[in-house]
Amino acid sequence: MTEELMLKLRNLKVIFPNAMGVVKAVEGIDLDIHKGECVALVGESGCGKSVTSLAIMKLLNTPPALISVDELCVGGEEMKDYSNKKMQEVRGKKLSMIFQDAMSALNPVMTVGRQIQEVFLTQKDITKKEAKERAIKALELVGIPEPARRYNAFPHQLSGGLRQRVLIAMAFACNPELIIADEPTTALDVTIQAQVLDVLKRMQKNHNTALLLITHDLSIVANMADTICVMYCGKIVEKSPAYALFKKPYHPYTKGLLGAIPKLSDERHVFVQIPDSVPNPMHKPKGCYFHPRCAYATDKCRECMPPLRDVGDGRMVRCFHALEEV
Ligand code: SF4
Repeated sequence: MTEELMLKLRNLKVIFPNAMGVVKAVEGIDLDIHKGECVALVGESGCGKSVTSLAIMKLLNTPPALISVDELCVGGEEMKDYSNKKMQEVRGKKLSMIFQDAMSALNPVMTVGRQIQEVFLTQKDITKKEAKERAIKALELVGIPEPARRYNAFPHQLSGGLRQRVLIAMAFACNPELIIADEPTTALDVTIQAQVLDVLKRMQKNHNTALLLITHDLSIVANMADTICVMYCGKIVEKSPAYALFKKPYHPYTKGLLGAIPKLSDERHVFVQIPDSVPNPMHKPKGCYFHPRCAYATDKCRECMPPLRDVGDGRMVRCFHALEEV
Protein backbone atom coordinates (compact mmCIF):
# COMPACT_ATOMS: atom_id res chain seq x y z
CA MET A 1 0.00 0.00 0.00
CA THR A 2 1.32 3.46 -0.92
CA GLU A 3 0.30 6.96 0.14
CA GLU A 4 -1.11 7.70 -3.32
CA LEU A 5 -4.75 8.69 -2.79
CA MET A 6 -7.10 6.86 -5.19
CA LEU A 7 -10.41 8.02 -3.70
CA LYS A 8 -10.90 11.33 -1.98
CA LEU A 9 -14.53 11.89 -1.04
CA ARG A 10 -15.57 14.94 0.95
CA ASN A 11 -18.92 15.78 2.49
CA LEU A 12 -21.12 13.48 0.42
CA LYS A 13 -24.81 14.05 1.11
CA VAL A 14 -27.68 12.16 -0.50
CA ILE A 15 -31.33 12.86 0.21
CA PHE A 16 -34.55 11.46 -1.24
CA PRO A 17 -37.42 13.94 -0.98
CA ASN A 18 -40.89 12.41 -1.23
CA ALA A 19 -44.50 13.34 -0.55
CA MET A 20 -44.13 12.36 3.12
CA GLY A 21 -40.92 14.29 3.81
CA VAL A 22 -37.21 13.85 3.24
CA VAL A 23 -35.07 10.73 3.66
CA LYS A 24 -31.51 11.76 4.53
CA ALA A 25 -29.73 8.61 3.36
CA VAL A 26 -26.15 9.90 3.59
CA GLU A 27 -25.19 12.83 5.80
CA GLY A 28 -21.75 14.20 5.04
CA ILE A 29 -19.47 11.20 4.45
CA ASP A 30 -15.69 11.64 4.01
CA LEU A 31 -13.63 8.73 2.65
CA ASP A 32 -9.96 8.34 1.71
CA ILE A 33 -8.66 5.17 0.02
CA HIS A 34 -5.00 4.80 -0.94
CA LYS A 35 -3.51 2.70 -3.72
CA GLY A 36 -3.57 -0.96 -2.70
CA GLU A 37 -5.72 -0.26 0.38
CA CYS A 38 -8.99 -2.03 1.20
CA VAL A 39 -11.48 0.11 3.12
CA ALA A 40 -14.60 -1.63 4.38
CA LEU A 41 -17.82 0.32 4.88
CA VAL A 42 -19.82 -1.64 7.42
CA GLY A 43 -23.27 -1.27 8.95
CA GLU A 44 -26.79 -2.67 9.15
CA SER A 45 -29.13 -2.66 6.16
CA GLY A 46 -30.51 0.81 5.56
CA CYS A 47 -27.54 2.71 7.04
CA GLY A 48 -26.57 4.27 3.68
CA LYS A 49 -23.67 2.06 2.57
CA SER A 50 -25.00 1.11 -0.85
CA VAL A 51 -26.32 4.62 -1.53
CA THR A 52 -22.79 5.90 -0.81
CA SER A 53 -21.29 3.46 -3.32
CA LEU A 54 -23.88 4.24 -6.00
CA ALA A 55 -23.33 7.98 -5.48
CA ILE A 56 -19.57 7.54 -5.99
CA MET A 57 -20.26 5.63 -9.23
CA LYS A 58 -22.91 8.26 -10.16
CA LEU A 59 -25.45 5.49 -10.70
CA LEU A 60 -28.26 7.05 -8.66
CA ASN A 61 -31.17 8.51 -10.59
CA THR A 62 -31.42 12.26 -9.98
CA PRO A 63 -34.28 12.82 -9.30
CA PRO A 64 -35.45 11.24 -7.08
CA ALA A 65 -32.03 11.44 -5.37
CA LEU A 66 -30.48 14.83 -4.61
CA ILE A 67 -26.71 14.62 -4.24
CA SER A 68 -24.17 17.16 -3.08
CA VAL A 69 -20.47 16.57 -2.65
CA ASP A 70 -17.53 18.92 -2.06
CA GLU A 71 -14.90 16.64 -3.63
CA LEU A 72 -15.08 13.36 -5.55
CA CYS A 73 -11.56 12.62 -6.77
CA VAL A 74 -10.65 9.21 -8.25
CA GLY A 75 -6.98 8.73 -9.06
CA GLY A 76 -6.46 12.48 -8.79
CA GLU A 77 -9.27 13.27 -11.27
CA GLU A 78 -12.10 15.47 -9.93
CA MET A 79 -15.39 13.88 -11.03
CA LYS A 80 -18.03 15.68 -9.02
CA ASP A 81 -19.25 17.67 -12.04
CA TYR A 82 -18.91 14.86 -14.62
CA SER A 83 -21.95 14.28 -16.84
CA ASN A 84 -23.44 10.81 -17.40
CA LYS A 85 -21.68 10.63 -20.76
CA LYS A 86 -18.31 11.46 -19.22
CA MET A 87 -18.90 8.95 -16.42
CA GLN A 88 -19.56 6.25 -19.02
CA GLU A 89 -16.10 6.94 -20.42
CA VAL A 90 -14.38 6.53 -17.05
CA ARG A 91 -16.41 3.64 -15.61
CA GLY A 92 -14.46 0.42 -16.06
CA LYS A 93 -11.29 2.35 -16.78
CA LYS A 94 -10.80 4.47 -13.65
CA LEU A 95 -13.42 2.99 -11.35
CA SER A 96 -15.66 -0.05 -11.52
CA MET A 97 -18.12 -1.92 -9.38
CA ILE A 98 -18.85 -5.51 -8.37
CA PHE A 99 -22.56 -5.83 -7.65
CA GLN A 100 -24.07 -8.19 -5.11
CA ASP A 101 -26.40 -10.09 -7.44
CA ALA A 102 -24.43 -11.38 -10.40
CA MET A 103 -27.55 -12.81 -12.06
CA SER A 104 -29.06 -9.31 -12.35
CA ALA A 105 -25.76 -7.58 -13.11
CA LEU A 106 -24.90 -9.85 -16.08
CA ASN A 107 -26.71 -9.78 -19.42
CA PRO A 108 -28.70 -13.05 -19.55
CA VAL A 109 -28.66 -13.31 -23.36
CA MET A 110 -24.92 -12.80 -23.89
CA THR A 111 -22.19 -15.30 -23.05
CA VAL A 112 -20.03 -14.33 -20.07
CA GLY A 113 -16.92 -14.33 -22.26
CA ARG A 114 -18.47 -11.86 -24.71
CA GLN A 115 -19.44 -9.60 -21.80
CA ILE A 116 -15.84 -9.44 -20.58
CA GLN A 117 -14.65 -9.03 -24.17
CA GLU A 118 -16.98 -6.01 -24.53
CA VAL A 119 -15.27 -4.36 -21.56
CA PHE A 120 -11.88 -4.71 -23.22
CA LEU A 121 -13.24 -3.50 -26.58
CA THR A 122 -14.84 -0.34 -25.13
CA GLN A 123 -11.83 0.61 -23.06
CA LYS A 124 -8.81 -0.48 -25.09
CA ASP A 125 -7.66 0.03 -28.62
CA ILE A 126 -7.43 -3.67 -29.47
CA THR A 127 -8.83 -6.12 -32.02
CA LYS A 128 -11.74 -8.48 -31.32
CA LYS A 129 -9.36 -11.46 -31.40
CA GLU A 130 -7.06 -9.86 -28.79
CA ALA A 131 -10.05 -8.89 -26.65
CA LYS A 132 -11.30 -12.49 -26.73
CA GLU A 133 -7.88 -13.82 -25.70
CA ARG A 134 -7.77 -11.32 -22.82
CA ALA A 135 -11.30 -12.28 -21.76
CA ILE A 136 -10.28 -15.95 -21.57
CA LYS A 137 -7.17 -14.96 -19.61
CA ALA A 138 -9.33 -12.86 -17.27
CA LEU A 139 -11.58 -15.89 -16.62
CA GLU A 140 -8.48 -17.96 -15.88
CA LEU A 141 -7.11 -15.33 -13.46
CA VAL A 142 -10.23 -15.49 -11.28
CA GLY A 143 -9.91 -19.27 -11.06
CA ILE A 144 -12.66 -20.35 -13.47
CA PRO A 145 -11.86 -23.89 -14.66
CA GLU A 146 -11.74 -24.50 -18.44
CA PRO A 147 -11.86 -20.77 -19.22
CA ALA A 148 -11.92 -21.25 -23.02
CA ARG A 149 -15.04 -23.42 -22.72
CA ARG A 150 -16.66 -21.24 -20.05
CA TYR A 151 -16.16 -18.23 -22.34
CA ASN A 152 -19.18 -19.53 -24.30
CA ALA A 153 -21.38 -20.12 -21.25
CA PHE A 154 -24.45 -18.00 -20.53
CA PRO A 155 -24.84 -16.67 -16.95
CA HIS A 156 -27.62 -19.17 -16.10
CA GLN A 157 -25.28 -22.06 -17.00
CA LEU A 158 -22.82 -21.10 -14.25
CA SER A 159 -23.09 -21.53 -10.48
CA GLY A 160 -23.52 -18.46 -8.23
CA GLY A 161 -19.84 -18.57 -7.21
CA LEU A 162 -18.62 -18.72 -10.84
CA ARG A 163 -20.95 -15.86 -11.84
CA GLN A 164 -19.51 -13.74 -9.04
CA ARG A 165 -15.99 -14.57 -10.30
CA VAL A 166 -17.08 -13.36 -13.75
CA LEU A 167 -18.11 -10.02 -12.19
CA ILE A 168 -14.72 -9.79 -10.48
CA ALA A 169 -12.99 -10.51 -13.81
CA MET A 170 -15.04 -7.75 -15.48
CA ALA A 171 -14.27 -5.27 -12.71
CA PHE A 172 -10.51 -5.86 -12.95
CA ALA A 173 -10.49 -6.14 -16.77
CA CYS A 174 -9.14 -2.65 -17.44
CA ASN A 175 -7.13 -2.37 -14.24
CA PRO A 176 -9.14 0.53 -12.73
CA GLU A 177 -7.76 2.68 -9.92
CA LEU A 178 -10.75 2.10 -7.66
CA ILE A 179 -13.11 -0.88 -7.35
CA ILE A 180 -16.26 -0.83 -5.27
CA ALA A 181 -17.54 -4.25 -4.17
CA ASP A 182 -21.10 -3.97 -2.85
CA GLU A 183 -21.90 -7.01 -0.70
CA PRO A 184 -20.05 -9.20 -3.24
CA THR A 185 -20.74 -12.48 -1.43
CA THR A 186 -24.11 -11.94 0.23
CA ALA A 187 -25.98 -14.21 -2.19
CA LEU A 188 -23.50 -17.10 -1.78
CA ASP A 189 -23.28 -19.89 0.76
CA VAL A 190 -20.48 -19.76 3.33
CA THR A 191 -17.84 -21.98 1.67
CA ILE A 192 -18.28 -20.36 -1.75
CA GLN A 193 -18.23 -16.96 -0.02
CA ALA A 194 -14.76 -17.70 1.38
CA GLN A 195 -13.47 -18.78 -2.06
CA VAL A 196 -14.82 -15.67 -3.78
CA LEU A 197 -13.34 -13.41 -1.09
CA ASP A 198 -9.97 -15.14 -1.56
CA VAL A 199 -10.14 -14.44 -5.30
CA LEU A 200 -11.10 -10.81 -4.69
CA LYS A 201 -8.27 -10.34 -2.18
CA ARG A 202 -5.70 -11.96 -4.49
CA MET A 203 -6.78 -9.86 -7.47
CA GLN A 204 -6.70 -6.69 -5.37
CA LYS A 205 -3.19 -7.41 -4.09
CA ASN A 206 -1.88 -8.43 -7.55
CA HIS A 207 -3.26 -5.28 -9.18
CA ASN A 208 -2.51 -3.04 -6.15
CA THR A 209 -6.03 -1.63 -6.54
CA ALA A 210 -7.86 0.60 -4.08
CA LEU A 211 -10.92 -1.36 -2.94
CA LEU A 212 -14.06 -0.12 -1.20
CA LEU A 213 -15.79 -3.15 0.30
CA ILE A 214 -19.41 -2.61 1.30
CA THR A 215 -20.81 -5.17 3.71
CA HIS A 216 -23.13 -5.67 6.67
CA ASP A 217 -20.95 -8.52 7.92
CA LEU A 218 -17.96 -7.54 10.10
CA SER A 219 -16.65 -11.11 10.14
CA ILE A 220 -15.93 -11.13 6.38
CA VAL A 221 -13.88 -7.92 6.52
CA ALA A 222 -11.53 -9.26 9.20
CA ASN A 223 -9.26 -10.85 6.59
CA MET A 224 -9.81 -8.30 3.84
CA ALA A 225 -9.83 -4.73 5.14
CA ASP A 226 -6.95 -2.46 6.13
CA THR A 227 -9.34 0.20 7.42
CA ILE A 228 -12.92 -0.10 8.61
CA CYS A 229 -15.56 2.64 8.58
CA VAL A 230 -18.68 1.81 10.57
CA MET A 231 -21.83 3.58 9.35
CA TYR A 232 -25.03 4.21 11.24
CA CYS A 233 -28.07 6.14 9.97
CA GLY A 234 -26.15 7.84 7.16
CA LYS A 235 -23.12 8.88 9.21
CA ILE A 236 -19.72 7.33 9.90
CA VAL A 237 -19.62 6.60 13.63
CA GLU A 238 -16.20 4.95 13.84
CA LYS A 239 -13.17 4.78 11.58
CA SER A 240 -10.15 2.72 12.49
CA PRO A 241 -7.37 0.45 11.24
CA ALA A 242 -8.97 -3.00 11.09
CA TYR A 243 -6.75 -4.71 13.67
CA ALA A 244 -7.32 -1.94 16.24
CA LEU A 245 -11.08 -1.98 15.77
CA PHE A 246 -11.30 -5.73 16.30
CA LYS A 247 -8.98 -5.51 19.30
CA LYS A 248 -10.70 -2.62 21.02
CA PRO A 249 -13.84 -1.11 19.48
CA TYR A 250 -14.69 2.36 20.81
CA HIS A 251 -18.21 3.14 19.67
CA PRO A 252 -21.07 1.35 21.48
CA TYR A 253 -22.60 0.42 18.10
CA THR A 254 -19.34 -1.19 16.93
CA LYS A 255 -19.12 -3.03 20.25
CA GLY A 256 -22.64 -4.30 19.67
CA LEU A 257 -21.83 -5.50 16.15
CA LEU A 258 -18.68 -7.30 17.30
CA GLY A 259 -20.40 -8.75 20.36
CA ALA A 260 -23.00 -10.36 18.10
CA ILE A 261 -20.40 -12.39 16.16
CA PRO A 262 -20.25 -15.97 17.49
CA LYS A 263 -16.75 -17.39 18.14
CA LEU A 264 -15.56 -21.00 18.20
CA SER A 265 -14.33 -20.55 21.78
CA ASP A 266 -17.69 -19.11 22.90
CA GLU A 267 -19.31 -20.73 25.90
CA ARG A 268 -22.20 -18.28 25.91
CA HIS A 269 -25.69 -19.68 25.48
CA VAL A 270 -27.23 -16.30 24.72
CA PHE A 271 -25.66 -13.94 22.22
CA VAL A 272 -25.52 -10.21 22.68
CA GLN A 273 -27.82 -8.28 20.41
CA ILE A 274 -28.29 -4.60 19.82
CA PRO A 275 -31.79 -3.76 21.07
CA ASP A 276 -34.46 -2.45 18.66
CA SER A 277 -33.66 -1.68 15.05
CA VAL A 278 -32.35 1.15 12.90
CA PRO A 279 -34.75 4.12 13.19
CA ASN A 280 -37.02 5.16 10.33
CA PRO A 281 -34.79 7.36 8.14
CA MET A 282 -37.62 9.90 7.89
CA HIS A 283 -37.83 10.18 11.66
CA LYS A 284 -34.31 9.99 13.02
CA PRO A 285 -34.07 10.76 16.74
CA LYS A 286 -32.75 14.07 18.05
CA GLY A 287 -29.14 14.14 19.25
CA CYS A 288 -27.01 11.04 18.73
CA TYR A 289 -28.91 8.77 16.33
CA PHE A 290 -27.84 5.74 18.32
CA HIS A 291 -29.12 6.96 21.72
CA PRO A 292 -32.44 5.00 21.75
CA ARG A 293 -30.41 1.76 21.43
CA CYS A 294 -27.39 2.75 23.52
CA ALA A 295 -26.83 1.50 27.07
CA TYR A 296 -24.52 4.46 27.82
CA ALA A 297 -26.78 7.30 26.63
CA THR A 298 -26.91 10.44 28.76
CA ASP A 299 -29.02 13.61 28.54
CA LYS A 300 -26.30 15.21 26.44
CA CYS A 301 -26.56 12.32 23.93
CA ARG A 302 -30.31 12.85 23.64
CA GLU A 303 -29.84 16.56 22.83
CA CYS A 304 -26.69 16.91 20.70
CA MET A 305 -25.13 15.05 17.77
CA PRO A 306 -21.57 14.07 18.74
CA PRO A 307 -18.86 15.12 16.24
CA LEU A 308 -16.59 12.56 14.58
CA ARG A 309 -13.43 13.27 16.54
CA ASP A 310 -9.84 12.17 16.19
CA VAL A 311 -8.87 9.98 19.15
CA GLY A 312 -5.30 9.20 18.00
CA ASP A 313 -3.61 6.19 16.39
CA GLY A 314 -5.46 6.82 13.14
CA ARG A 315 -8.84 6.34 14.82
CA MET A 316 -11.97 8.49 14.81
CA VAL A 317 -15.16 8.03 16.79
CA ARG A 318 -18.54 9.80 16.95
CA CYS A 319 -19.45 9.37 20.62
CA PHE A 320 -19.34 11.63 23.67
CA HIS A 321 -18.47 8.83 26.04
CA ALA A 322 -16.46 6.34 23.96
CA LEU A 323 -13.13 6.96 25.66
CA GLU A 324 -14.69 6.97 29.12
CA GLU A 325 -15.97 3.47 28.38
CA VAL A 326 -12.51 2.40 27.23
FE1 SF4 B 1 -24.23 6.19 23.08
FE2 SF4 B 1 -24.08 8.76 23.76
FE3 SF4 B 1 -22.06 7.63 22.50
FE4 SF4 B 1 -24.35 8.11 21.21
S1 SF4 B 1 -22.94 9.64 22.07
S2 SF4 B 1 -23.16 6.24 21.12
S3 SF4 B 1 -25.81 7.69 22.83
S4 SF4 B 1 -22.80 7.10 24.56
